[in-house]
Amino acid sequence: MAELTLHTPLTALKGVGPAKEKALAKLGLTAVADLLAYFPRDYEDRTLRGDIQTLPLEEPVCFAAMVAAPFHTTFLRKGMDLTKGRVVDAAAQVEVTFFNQPYVRSALTPGETYYFYGKLTGTGRRRQMVNPYFERAGQNTFTGGIMPVYPLTAGITAKFMGNLQKAAAQCVPQIQETLSDDLRAAYDLAPADFSYRAIHFPQSWEELERARRRLMFEELFCLNLGLTLIRGRRSQQAAIPFAKQDLEAFTAGLPFTLTDAQLRSAREAAADLKQPVPMNRLLQGDVGSGKTVVAAACAFLAWENGCQSALMAPTELLAQQHLKTMETLLGKMGMKVALLTGSMTAAQKRQCREALESGEIDLIVGTHALLSEGVEFRRLGLVITDEQHRFGVDQRAALSAKSGGAQRPHVLVMSATPIPRTLALMIYGDLDLSVIDQLPPGRTPVDTMLIGEDKRQRLYGFVRKQVGLGRQVYIVCPAVDQEDTEGMKAAEQFGQSLQGQVFPDLKVAIVHGRMKARDKQAVMEDFAAGRTDVLVSTTVIEVGVDVPNASLMIIENADRFGLSQLHQLRGRVGRGQHQSYCVLISNNRNELTRKRLKTLCATTDGFVIAEEDLKLRGPGDFFGARQHGLPQLKLASLEGDMRLLHQAQDAARGVLADDPDLSRPDHAPLRLRVEQLFRENGDIFN
Ligand code: ADP
Ligand code: MG
Repeated sequence: MAELTLHTPLTALKGVGPAKEKALAKLGLTAVADLLAYFPRDYEDRTLRGDIQTLPLEEPVCFAAMVAAPFHTTFLRKGMDLTKGRVVDAAAQVEVTFFNQPYVRSALTPGETYYFYGKLTGTGRRRQMVNPYFERAGQNTFTGGIMPVYPLTAGITAKFMGNLQKAAAQCVPQIQETLSDDLRAAYDLAPADFSYRAIHFPQSWEELERARRRLMFEELFCLNLGLTLIRGRRSQQAAIPFAKQDLEAFTAGLPFTLTDAQLRSAREAAADLKQPVPMNRLLQGDVGSGKTVVAAACAFLAWENGCQSALMAPTELLAQQHLKTMETLLGKMGMKVALLTGSMTAAQKRQCREALESGEIDLIVGTHALLSEGVEFRRLGLVITDEQHRFGVDQRAALSAKSGGAQRPHVLVMSATPIPRTLALMIYGDLDLSVIDQLPPGRTPVDTMLIGEDKRQRLYGFVRKQVGLGRQVYIVCPAVDQEDTEGMKAAEQFGQSLQGQVFPDLKVAIVHGRMKARDKQAVMEDFAAGRTDVLVSTTVIEVGVDVPNASLMIIENADRFGLSQLHQLRGRVGRGQHQSYCVLISNNRNELTRKRLKTLCATTDGFVIAEEDLKLRGPGDFFGARQHGLPQLKLASLEGDMRLLHQAQDAARGVLADDPDLSRPDHAPLRLRVEQLFRENGDIFN
């Protein structure tokens, strides 16, 4: 076989045919380099641990033993057989049983010694083991040491992955070092070749720790470099400064007084908008904290200064709602607000595009449709995106690029995801931050409770009572339709049964993501106008929907949702002056699950909930789902590794002080790594 390199396709490796190739591609693995960068998710301690007699019970252990006598298979009934035998070491013996694996008989030769890995059970001196992993001593590759555990997929077994990794290991010396000797000395970091070998095949736990630390550092370091480069590039860009700033004129026209937090945020944004460099500000505030009006203030300033604004929402529903709000807040000032979404007719879209180009529209509210080809502005000065976690960095950039001319628009990003500050710093490293940490006055906290199925009838009584008081009710289901359920309530069928049997006398409507935009809109309009009593939905109503008369939120199979998501859903009620309720239904008895749900009952503070979510589930949710548009980190968990994060930040600062755009030849490998990390976000060096 030809010499392996990092670029060799995996099909050149032994055992990789078209089927395996496909399965590997699913894991994102196509070349040898991908394999080396595919880190284990866990490790099993398969080091040999002494005599059978001294080994602990009920936990995975590995030991060497000789097969004492031939194994025998007993057929119990159809589809059920047992293969049993005895293995011994100098002082003790273990009775080994395999279920439905008669073929092991021939693989276990009497008189030969094997390594066994599994859980020992037994009482007194009797020792047993069921379905152990075993290998002949001496030629072992998967026992006798620390064994990596890889994330797998159908068609790729642990053993197969292990063999691929062993083959790939010979290319480790070809990996380019990205951290200079000085840097490694300063932060006590292991070299690249050592780390890539040890992360896959650690000889000891200490080695593994050293490898992990280095690779984590490298990850955070590159993330930091990338974000800093993006930020630096921005400060070199020009924007139209909004010199005229008559915020009073805006606030005077409002139907309410701004909270202190809203006013502070608006002023922070206004100060940015005065500058000739683009604002890049994240406006963070819990559900219902009133972010929209701050965005409106910014759009007002843009208009005062002869600029257009664009507001991008993640769903049509939200876009339509924003349109209404903005028309109410800004229309009376003389601003022209319009909508652009994918579901509009070609003629409507064309008309809208023309009005944008001529400058007739002052604020355009829309969905991703705003990004499409042919949407041009006369003078775009401000881009606002709502619920930022649904958009990537690159999408923000795409909209900014539509400003035409040399000047870039200012950017305001609104997010209702209460991300803990430590994480926010990292995720939005390229943004300035305003936080609305105060709810508008007169809100009573939503009363939240967790109930089981046994209380369902009583709950239905409560629904009637709320509707009797003139209120409205949301019922959220985790699934759209029966086909994608596993014991989950589906909006479509459950809604129909509520309509037909449970509440035939009430007006029950159904809305979910698979409906046509127009139909969804009609249902939502009816609900907003109070023509519907009960709205059965999926999470399409999760973000931003604002119906102050709704006072009861019921969430079916609540255990199926993440805490932060439940919090978002709960935020749909308690928006008016009525006492509101949130009922979580779950029959799940899992202790951790119940603890999660109880957290929600105990607090309405989104930041507390996010911290708790983070503790209970780890940062995977913030970082795994790629909702933030940042590169995914493989190893580093930002909560646990704050110290390392700070070190990586320091190091990045140091490197960029010497070489601001990483153009020095000796930084080429580093530059390449940063580029790879940010690959999905376009070319960050241009
Ligand atoms: P979110 O931050 O979740 O997007 P919204 O901007 O939708 O919140 O505001 C939630 C509700 O609170 C809206 O009905 C809005 O009109 C109202 N609101 C916002 N600010 C105030 C305020 N200062 N006083 C009273 N009501 C307010
Ligand atoms: Mg909102």
